[in-house]
Amino acid sequence: MKQRKPRTEKVRSEKKKRTDWGYKRRQKSTSIYFLLWTAFSGLALIVVLLFGFTQWFVVENTYKSEAAKDVTSKGRRVEYSLKNPPSQFADNPGFYLRVLANDFNLNIVVLNETGEVILPQSPDLPTGEQVDFSQKFARLQQELSDARQAEVTYFGNGECVYGKNISLNGQGNYYLYVSRPLELLETSLSQLSVRMLLISIFVFVLAFALSSAISGWFTRPLIEMTDKARQLAQGDFNVDFHGAEYGAEMVELADAFNYARDEISKTDSMQKELIANVSHDFKTPLTMIKAYASMIIEISGGNKEKREKHAQVIIDEADRLASLVGDVLDLSKIRSGINALQMRTFNMSIYLREILERFSYLTTTGGYTFVADIQPNLFTGADDLKIGQALYNLIGNAVNYTGDDKTVYISLQKTSDEIFRFSVRDTGDGIAPNEIATIWDRYYRSDKAHKRPVQGTGLGLSIVKTILEKHKFAFGVESEVGKGSTFFVDFPLVEKEEP
Ligand code: ADP
Repeated sequence: MKQRKPRTEKVRSEKKKRTDWGYKRRQKSTSIYFLLWTAFSGLALIVVLLFGFTQWFVVENTYKSEAAKDVTSKGRRVEYSLKNPPSQFADNPGFYLRVLANDFNLNIVVLNETGEVILPQSPDLPTGEQVDFSQKFARLQQELSDARQAEVTYFGNGECVYGKNISLNGQGNYYLYVSRPLELLETSLSQLSVRMLLISIFVFVLAFALSSAISGWFTRPLIEMTDKARQLAQGDFNVDFHGAEYGAEMVELADAFNYARDEISKTDSMQKELIANVSHDFKTPLTMIKAYASMIIEISGGNKEKREKHAQVIIDEADRLASLVGDVLDLSKIRSGINALQMRTFNMSIYLREILERFSYLTTTGGYTFVADIQPNLFTGADDLKIGQALYNLIGNAVNYTGDDKTVYISLQKTSDEIFRFSVRDTGDGIAPNEIATIWDRYYRSDKAHKRPVQGTGLGLSIVKTILEKHKFAFGVESEVGKGSTFFVDFPLVEKEEP
């Protein structure tokens, strides 16, 4: 035979499962603090890098376009000056070229068609400037032929070059080569990258500190609320959630928690009240049963008539106890959802007549009158057994509370294309307006209960409410003190199901 696990062990293993689950969850999800921190720091870094690259791009382009403009305009002026030299330099164009180069802070040479430097000539050129122009000349010729123009400006070999095909003293095919080194650009760019690196480090450190502070600020209320929710879970209904200092969303969250706390506390006190009342109600019939059983033994045992009377009391009280136990079980089963709703489509008109049949003993022997106005063939979709229980409770209450005329009015009528309404009216004392809201949740049985024609346990309307809320059906009561009450339920009208 299979051995049952001892209860304590089961409880412990369940507890362990819960803890494990919580631990796993914590393991899996990253903390908001970390997420916010990463987001902020990442954003800061992206901004810095973007800024850096734009700077780089702008600096390089501005510098280059300025350099090109400068070299072109100066190159043109050099050409003009070379063609129209001042009289003192007319005999020595090479020297004049050096003066111009000095003035403009540029490198200027004139090359012949084979690429030889003809101006400035040695010895005007210092030895250090004896540059091999063959490659530069090849490039110049290439650029000129690509541009198909007499002049061209381009970048190459770390310099910005202005070149032009010119004639000197009215003859020949010569080339003016004016250039400016780009050293300054390279220096600025390398300085810029060092600066960017420093700024990035600074911004990153700043973002680290700021985002850590901001993330802490964001997560603090959540941590606080988690602690309080734990306290609440342990049954402390005095915890107060507040989030006013953290913004509207936190206020909303705190309100939701406070609402949940109030509801849980209400349910908790209702449950306690229920247990107190129900145990009291259990005790009364048990005391009676015990007392009457003793009476039978001690007093009425020999007297048949008395004995039967006392035994009847015992049977009645046992019935009451059984129905109370039944109601408590029903309520807890419906509430906990152990028995899920078994929805089906059925003819409510027929079903209601069957329910009324169960009260027929009251019309035949109790002098009660049921006035029923039931529209035929109204179909609805619901859990018929549970709905039957709800309607039985409502009709039972009407019987219990109706006036001296002992009349109960029952109606089932279509109210729109989608809805039909069940209502039960009595002619009793009615319900005071301040009690109307609470009767559905009252776990209280009035003292007169055992004198009623239909047994009530004080749980009837709670059961009705729970069943109808599970179905999401509209229901309610209209009552006027001294005139009576009408309880109603609206059912969705559905097409009759094809067999
Ligand atoms: P019980 O009827 O067993 O006391 P219920 O839950 O059915 O318990 O009803 C709760 C309370 O609502 C009743 O005690 C009674 O005060 C009030 N009540 C219910 N139905 C009616 C009615 N038809 N007329 C007047 N009062 C009613």
